[in-house]
Amino acid sequence: MTDLTLFQQKIAASLSDIELRFDEPMSKHTSFRIGGGAEVMVFPKNTQELAKILKTSALLDCNCAILGAGTNVLAPDDGLRGLVICLKDCLDGMEQLDETHIRVSAGVTMARAAVFAANLGLSGLEFAHGIPGTVGGGVYMNAGAYGGEICQVAETVEVMDLNGNLSERTCEQMKFSYRHSILEDEGGIVTGVVFRLEKGDCETIREKMKELIGKRTASQPLDLPSAGSAFKRPVGGYAAALIDQAGLKGYQVGGAAISTKHAGFAVNLGGATAEDVKRLLRDVSDRVYDHSGIRIEPEIRIW
Ligand SMILES: Cc1cc2nc3c(=O)[nH]c(=O)nc-3n(C[C@H](O)[C@H](O)[C@H](O)COP(=O)(O)OP(=O)(O)OC[C@H]3O[C@@H](n4cnc5c(N)ncnc54)[C@H](O)[C@@H]3O)c2cc1C
Repeated sequence: MTDLTLFQQKIAASLSDIELRFDEPMSKHTSFRIGGGAEVMVFPKNTQELAKILKTSALLDCNCAILGAGTNVLAPDDGLRGLVICLKDCLDGMEQLDETHIRVSAGVTMARAAVFAANLGLSGLEFAHGIPGTVGGGVYMNAGAYGGEICQVAETVEVMDLNGNLSERTCEQMKFSYRHSILEDEGGIVTGVVFRLEKGDCETIREKMKELIGKRTASQPLDLPSAGSAFKRPVGGYAAALIDQAGLKGYQVGGAAISTKHAGFAVNLGGATAEDVKRLLRDVSDRVYDHSGIRIEPEIRIW
């Protein structure tokens, strides 16, 4: 224990029955493959463990960050003090509730949830199949693609507050808007969601998912680490088109670059740092503004 920080020792003593890792590289847990060590990363297997972690974190008054699949996060090069609670594959489980409703735990990936629904002949999650994050992350930021959005199918959301108390929110209470939910303003952790779907034909649903994956593969730089669309869609335009029109495809800062395949993506060409990506995003936003008069804002969560 002598190499551990005082905080790590305290956490090890308080959460001895929960899976913990010390100085865990964030680069192993983010799709950008960027980020230094998390002082403590913790992997709760159920909501009881999650509640215990949150209570301990409140007692120790430490920083506490929630990580899903890390597909929309830029983690800092010099790491994160405090706790990172990793939910991917931890809060697990899916069940059919009735003919048209399924409940999915927050750590399940969108792809698994979509395949589960398809196998039951339930339509509505086809759009989510190719979004590489967890259901919890998707609800938190109202993920969407190809005309579908989480807010169209989420009936109720189970949320744990930072004291470990669970409550259920309706879709209206989640105040979903474009890539946003109330949790970004008020805090709270998604632990599960009930999706309201429609009865459909398994084969037709699978065909739709295949078609959308085909579109992604054809247009997105899926062979390089990224965090998806780097910028939010501005009012009155598309970020990718504005970046392209400003001549910024391929624009590079250190190991980070605007994809030559899709101008909406910032990619890690190899060895990119968080600082490279941040400078790239700043430069691109400024140059697009100079070119078009439209300010584009990052969609990626910069930690
Ligand atoms: C190749 C690629 C393609 C993508 N395509 C799309 C797309 O088509 N549409 C789209 O919307 N996004 C897309 N994304 C972005 C990303 O997949 C989504 O934003 C996804 O919803 C993030 O989920 P996550 O589990 O990875 O969240 P993370 O990246 O781990 O976290 C993102 C934010 O959500 C918070 N969070 C995560 N889990 C929870 C939880 N359970 N409770 C509360 N807060 C939580 C985190 O604290 C963080 O602030 C893409 C990303 C990549 C790499």
